[in-house]
Amino acid sequence: MNTEIIAVGTELLMGETQDTNSSWLGQRLPEFGLELKFVTIVGDDLTRLTETLDRAWRRSDVVIAMGGLGPTLDDMTRDGIAHMLGEQITTDPDLKVWLEDNFARRNVNPMPQQNYRQAGIIPSAVAIRNAMGTAPSWWIEKGDKILITLPGPPRELTNMWTTEIAPRLKERLPGQKIMARTFKTIGLSEAAVDEMVRDVYDVPGMDFGVYAKQDGIYLRGIAKADTEAEALTTLLRAETMVRDALGDYIWGTDEEYPPERVGDLLREKGYTLAVLESCTGGMIGAALTEIPGSSEYFKGGAITYTDDMKAQAGVPQETLDAHGAVSEETARAMADAARRTYDADCGISVTGVAGPGDQDGVKAGTVFIGVSTPGSASVARHEFPSRRPLVRNRAVTAALLQLIRALQSE
Ligand code: AMP
Ligand code: MG
Repeated sequence: MNTEIIAVGTELLMGETQDTNSSWLGQRLPEFGLELKFVTIVGDDLTRLTETLDRAWRRSDVVIAMGGLGPTLDDMTRDGIAHMLGEQITTDPDLKVWLEDNFARRNVNPMPQQNYRQAGIIPSAVAIRNAMGTAPSWWIEKGDKILITLPGPPRELTNMWTTEIAPRLKERLPGQKIMARTFKTIGLSEAAVDEMVRDVYDVPGMDFGVYAKQDGIYLRGIAKADTEAEALTTLLRAETMVRDALGDYIWGTDEEYPPERVGDLLREKGYTLAVLESCTGGMIGAALTEIPGSSEYFKGGAITYTDDMKAQAGVPQETLDAHGAVSEETARAMADAARRTYDADCGISVTGVAGPGDQDGVKAGTVFIGVSTPGSASVARHEFPSRRPLVRNRAVTAALLQLIRALQSE
């Protein structure tokens, strides 16, 4: 079913708030057989909002309008929908009591007059109470079409979607089922992934897309069928073929992210890890320790920003003198030192020029990453675009992926 999202709020147009709700929802629509065709951002303006709603209602089967459900006069999503459908907003007595209770529970007495706007309803809408805020959602069905409103604050929106809207949609839309899986690869170009999985493209009922992300090239497969079981069978069949074709180049699937995969691999092999970080200033350690239970495999390390600190952590002074801090040799020595000094099975090192300026004749964005494991040692040289925050973030991801590759092929 053709689906359309309308994100309401002038702050979204001004770029003050990013429309994260649309991308969050966009990921969740396929499982209901909802094909997202348009996302429109519209400001807090009744005429333009009504126009946008009207166009969406005419051309799409399912319309999701989010934001603009607050109590203030600039929150006009309810008014826009009423205009568009030619209906009158009246106060819903049950909603009114629920709202008043809501405020009483938080010891706000009396409820601000403005909030009564949120108890408004039109004849064709059913109100769905918001467990995390004061803005109820509206569920409207006319003919074969559905219009849903969702509160703007992301935590209210996600909660409303998972607890209230998703179950209703499941019941209401028995039609086509869609199941998706993303395979995350490292070490291959987009073209190479595309070529290696050519045969899988012919599996009936499957659609594929290849796209580049910071943590490698993704291959996304979508299976469509009349039932969930059929879609799953198709997806699993395709998955076997994808895994045969790409093997160890796949480092993860779906929501999996590099620190998590590093943790799984280290645990599996019973290895520990230590790091020596220069230009990432501890960000690798921070990423690794985001994972609960990481103390089982991550020992720690040091931020060795100066040559002096690198030497103290066990990097031979001769290596630093002969090759400089930002060099393949130093990266290799740092990864070794991380293992030796901290008595760990694996070591990661990062040394580079985060920029914006070049340093000692080395171009900004140049980063050497060393990985040392019981079975392998490698140093990779990267030339990242020389924006400082970007260089550092990319270096963290690249370092974790380099360790993943080393451990997967051991
Ligand atoms: P509203 O419902 O328009 O009053 O918005 C309430 C809050 O949710 C504001 O802080 C908005 O910036 C935020 N918000 C609204 N729409 C979105 C969106 N599409 N993505 C992320 N945040 C949003
Ligand atoms: Mg708003």
